[in-house]
Amino acid sequence: KPMEGRITDIGPQHYAQFYPPVIARNKGKWLYHEIIEPGVLVHVAESGEKVYTVRVGAARLMSITHIREICEIADKHCGGHLRFTTRNNVEFMVETEEAMKALRDDLASRKFDGGSKKFPVGGTGAGISNIVHTQGWVHCHTPATDASGPVKAIMDEVFEDFQSMRLPAPVRISLACCINMCGAVHCSDIGVVGIHRKPPMIDHAWTDQLCEIPLAVASCPTAAVRPTKVELDGKKVNSIAIKNERCMYCGNCYTMCPALPISDGEGDGCVIMVGGKVSNRISMPKFSKVVVAYIPNEAPRWPTLTNTIKHIIEVYSENAMKYERLGDWAERIGWERFFQLTGLEFTHHLIDDFRDPAYYTWRQSTQFKF
Ligand code: SF4
Ligand code: SF4
Repeated sequence: KPMEGRITDIGPQHYAQFYPPVIARNKGKWLYHEIIEPGVLVHVAESGEKVYTVRVGAARLMSITHIREICEIADKHCGGHLRFTTRNNVEFMVETEEAMKALRDDLASRKFDGGSKKFPVGGTGAGISNIVHTQGWVHCHTPATDASGPVKAIMDEVFEDFQSMRLPAPVRISLACCINMCGAVHCSDIGVVGIHRKPPMIDHAWTDQLCEIPLAVASCPTAAVRPTKVELDGKKVNSIAIKNERCMYCGNCYTMCPALPISDGEGDGCVIMVGGKVSNRISMPKFSKVVVAYIPNEAPRWPTLTNTIKHIIEVYSENAMKYERLGDWAERIGWERFFQLTGLEFTHHLIDDFRDPAYYTWRQSTQFKF
């Protein structure tokens, strides 16, 4: 029923209605929490009440049958309550250690036909949590790489670290399939960004039919788009011209004008960024920096991308001090040493801008130029 003070029930209900009773009773009165094993946390309240949380990895795109099973588990163990984390993990909460063990064992027993775990427990602390990602080839129109595909391939490669906490500190991985980056990539320990490397193609037969040309002109952040007239079948038609040397391959104009497709099998691929974080422990939050300027799309398993990420994690794991995030470690040893240790090639693509001493440094922006 609508909450008090609301005149309709349109839109999301107030989240407070969905608190498990123990959370509602102790809201704002938590003493401490700890991770008692990978994927299992306990929160202790001033009242002495406890909440045991079991976190499981989940796909961001789920089938109805999978969601039904999640709800069935919540009904069976948690009084119908569950929550999704910002990384699309699912958290089940119970009030006693015995209930937590029964829940954990139930989750571990649920497998797909091939034998792999349906509800892997993990994603906490100094390990790898679920990968935040964007839409990919199927669901958005400007992607330069897929989202679910490479994310699945990366997660398969680093899955052991989802279930353990052997790393020096949390490693948060994100993927955005274009430089619009609707996926928090700029502040993740490891970020994958899809990039285009060629300007949009111009389909003059359709620009005047499909597009508001002034909108396409206004959409370009670098003023590379301008209106023009071209000769088509003996007639002058209104169209668009692009100054290629100004283009940063962002695809904004394609968003406004479907006659400017930008996807390209050869030009598109991925960038790897590292060292970002939102935490202020040890050092201030920081943006990720580009460390690999281009990796081609190698569907369906993206071997170069996944191997490179796995390698960066291993080198970080062997060399960083406890509690040091990837970016903290790279800054302590120096980025030059980061490239030496990882063996990644340092190229001019990794430098922001050669002209301005303020940016005469490692690339931090997303305006990739090739
Ligand atoms: Fe679309 Fe870009 Fe977001 Fe991917 S990152 S979903 S291509 S806007
Ligand atoms: Fe401008 Fe971006 Fe289109 Fe290039 S891709 S012309 S920079 S809007």
